[in-house]
Amino acid sequence: MGERFVVRFWGVRGSYPVPGPATVRVGGNTPCVEVEAGEHIILLDGGTGIIPAGQALLRRHRDQGRPLSAVILLSHTHHDHIQGMPYFAPAYVPTATLYVFGPRAVREQISETLRRAMVPPNFPISVEDLRAVRVVRALAETEAIWLLPGRQEPQVRNVFRDPPAGSEDGAVRVDVLKSYAHPQEGVYFYRIAYRGRAVVYATDTEGYQGGDRRLIHFARGADLLIHDAQYTAEEYLDPVASKQGWGHSTPEMALEVAQAAGVRRLAFFHHDPAHDDALLLDIEAQAQAKFPGAVVAREGLEFDLFT
Ligand SMILES: [Zn+2]
Ligand SMILES: [Zn+2]
Repeated sequence: MGERFVVRFWGVRGSYPVPGPATVRVGGNTPCVEVEAGEHIILLDGGTGIIPAGQALLRRHRDQGRPLSAVILLSHTHHDHIQGMPYFAPAYVPTATLYVFGPRAVREQISETLRRAMVPPNFPISVEDLRAVRVVRALAETEAIWLLPGRQEPQVRNVFRDPPAGSEDGAVRVDVLKSYAHPQEGVYFYRIAYRGRAVVYATDTEGYQGGDRRLIHFARGADLLIHDAQYTAEEYLDPVASKQGWGHSTPEMALEVAQAAGVRRLAFFHHDPAHDDALLLDIEAQAQAKFPGAVVAREGLEFDLFT
């Protein structure tokens, strides 16, 4: 169990969930990606994909005796990234331990933002009802999270200070980078590294001319880059209803970053709700002609980062 580094997609859709026959192959749930690194479970975002992810965690807990503990990293608090949280079953198990981290907003703490986003009657429950949640904490860009072997509780350290004791051997390290290319407060990108391998999560971001240079630096050499690719180039440049400035990328923008950063694999992510399986698989085929490591993220897809 200790040597696993697996990325598993539970929700890959942007904006709102789209169940139905036209999306059955790619999936209709909003963002949630599970990263299993050693004994630790990290969940990236709490869209509706976190609902089946939570059921799987409960099953593994019951059947295999795995600890019911996870670190939830929020890219930002737009509704499609937290709308599954009230239905995340482990949150109601008193013996479970959940640690929630997210971006520091300009004017308030993530705990405040989350509290305001989950207010009855607009939301069925409040943050306080999630009994397993131990910590809700904003991360600064100068901080990193360390997950040490044999310890569930994450250690947060300033990156310029010494790493915590015990981190030399088999620790998971999470770094953050703030992107300003998304409306309102921007988003956090995450880089999760374990035993010399790394995955980078970069959703809800709009490309720049020449590629997002800060992201290219951040993602350098990663084994997998998960990147926003919500719009086709035609939609992005539509003369009447252009999507410029909406805070999302095209597959071409994602490819440019992946190639400049020298990543091994690229997963297009945050698919537009209007894009059906046929269109997405066509996007994948076109991308693979230029970059064989490109795939369209779909529910149930797994990457073993040690292979
Ligand atoms: Zn989104
Ligand atoms: Zn967003």
